Amino acid sequence: MIYTFEKSDLITKQLRKFTTAYTHHVVGQYANIDFWINEVVTSLKAIDEHKKRFDKLYTAQKEWTEDHGTVIHKYCFICNGRCEFSNGKPSLPVYKQEKGLRKELVDAAYFFLLRCFRIGLLTREELKQKCDTIGTSIDPNDLE
Ligand SMILES: [Zn+2]
Repeated sequence: MIYTFEKSDLITKQLRKFTTAYTHHVVGQYANIDFWINEVVTSLKAIDEHKKRFDKLYTAQKEWTEDHGTVIHKYCFICNGRCEFSNGKPSLPVYKQEKGLRKELVDAAYFFLLRCFRIGLLTREELKQKCDTIGTSIDPNDLE
């Protein structure tokens, strides 16, 4: 899995775990809320810049292999060694788009904050500020 996506998924899972934990555990995790919000924001930025980083990686790899005439022969089980049909051209990396991980991360952070709000760990105004920071808004139905 791609580093950026794996990291995002890890934070999502962590926040989901917090959200459904015992109240006293939630209180403990909320004590480090600035750290967790920062993790979310950093991860979202990494996802948003993933394409830009991929393009740099792709271009650098492509230019290097072209300039140096890099030849790669993978082991072929049919030819029992170097494949007679292989042109030796190294394959270039394939871009993979994130599919919903970004939204899952924002949602996980949102529901954790909401749980904290319900417990009374933060005011409505603080909840709004933190939601703004992670780029989401409060659904008024969630506050009832
Ligand atoms: Zn072969």
